Amino acid sequence: MVSAKALELCRLCPASVTSAVIETASAMGLPDEEIQRFIDPKEVIRLRLSPRLSDGRVHHVPAWIIRHSDTLGPAKGGIRMSADVDEKVMCALGLEMTLKTALINVPFGGGKTGIGIDSRSLSLNDRETVIRSFANAARRHIGPELYVPAPDMGTGEREMGFLKDSIAYGQGFATTRGCFVTGKPVVLGGIPGRREATGVGVVTVIESAAKEMGRELSGLRAVVQGFGNVGSVVVEELSRRGVSIVAIGDLTGAAYDPDGLDIDEIKSHVHVTGGVAGYPGAQAIALDELLTLDCDVLVPAAKGGVITRQVAADMKATILAEAANGPTLHEADDVLREREIVVLPDILCNAGGVFVSYLEYTQETQRDQWTLEEVRSRLHRRMTDRFAAVWAASQGTHQLRAAALRMAIEKLHEGLVSRGLQS
Ligand code: NAD
Repeated sequence: MVSAKALELCRLCPASVTSAVIETASAMGLPDEEIQRFIDPKEVIRLRLSPRLSDGRVHHVPAWIIRHSDTLGPAKGGIRMSADVDEKVMCALGLEMTLKTALINVPFGGGKTGIGIDSRSLSLNDRETVIRSFANAARRHIGPELYVPAPDMGTGEREMGFLKDSIAYGQGFATTRGCFVTGKPVVLGGIPGRREATGVGVVTVIESAAKEMGRELSGLRAVVQGFGNVGSVVVEELSRRGVSIVAIGDLTGAAYDPDGLDIDEIKSHVHVTGGVAGYPGAQAIALDELLTLDCDVLVPAAKGGVITRQVAADMKATILAEAANGPTLHEADDVLREREIVVLPDILCNAGGVFVSYLEYTQETQRDQWTLEEVRSRLHRRMTDRFAAVWAASQGTHQLRAAALRMAIEKLHEGLVSRGLQS
């Protein structure tokens, strides 16, 4: 039974993840005060950045750092650079990170950063200027015991390198004491395999699910939305395992070939032109057709909220692998359940990135060096173990989201009890 107070919280923060957490925690019989504690961010920091960009003007750029929860350790979560970020979206993404770190079993809390400018409209130099401006403004909110950022949409390895550089040299040192940022270049203390970790983890989870469903990956057909850090790796890893990629879409457009796209060719096209649009080797289709194409596996790897009730009703895939954060609206979950589509929930499916960030964090803290083989093997083991635990907890119902949420909430509850902070 969901209480009136919990419903009120739901209205205040209408993100799908909030509704799902409230429903699950209420069904577990947790008191309202504790549910509120799971939802409300611990700290919201609003920043105003004033970078002078190459047009000679000083720009006004809003930014937010959400330290959503530190119940299980320092807040961990990526930096999103996009014009459509706002405080509510960032709080919901911070909550997702709190659940993800709890579920994947790393000693971190959840956090997120939003920088409100469209990274795609910026030159590489201007993007660097914005990140250095963020580093100056945010310096006192970032640290190995406080909040450790990483890449997310609109940022990557390069920007994380500038962040470490700004923080270290800003203090007059050639390095930092401990890990201030993950996902940085290996030469600056990054870890081999971090850039690919999220995509590799997604494919490991898809492979584990297919196995449980008695299916081989080889010969399946997949559609991938998003061809950035995560989507491009998912495409490559699926294709290496014999999956036929029948369509790929990004912001510029979508390409479709029912017999399977040539991945190397499409990669070169994107490298040269900056997007999928105009790829000559396949049929161009509208972006909104992508999600309902005939296929076995659908992988949203771009923005949130794309699996609406209607898409859930029309999609053909039998496996929905949530590589993006929050791709499915809460209202669509009932339809997916009725249609017995196996949903691999984001807090499990895309957690490979934060797991390898944890390895990077320990490597830097201990001034150690890890090999790619060690990282890949730990990542594979952790993703298959956590998948198996969630699958077992779903007790044959295939309701993996509900099982994953319950496990994450139980872990957070245990953390509160251990700290003597339960309601
Ligand atoms: P990115 O910026 O590298 O790539 C985003 C891709 O999505 C681009 O190809 C872009 O063109 C495409 N895109 C954006 N809007 C679209 C739309 N409306 N329709 C079709 N395509 C669209 O971002 P990323 O790091 O690959 O992140 C993708 C998703 O994965 C995000 O939801 C992010 O939060 C999530 N995620 C990323 C990581 C990570 O390690 N980078 C970890 C966990 C989750």
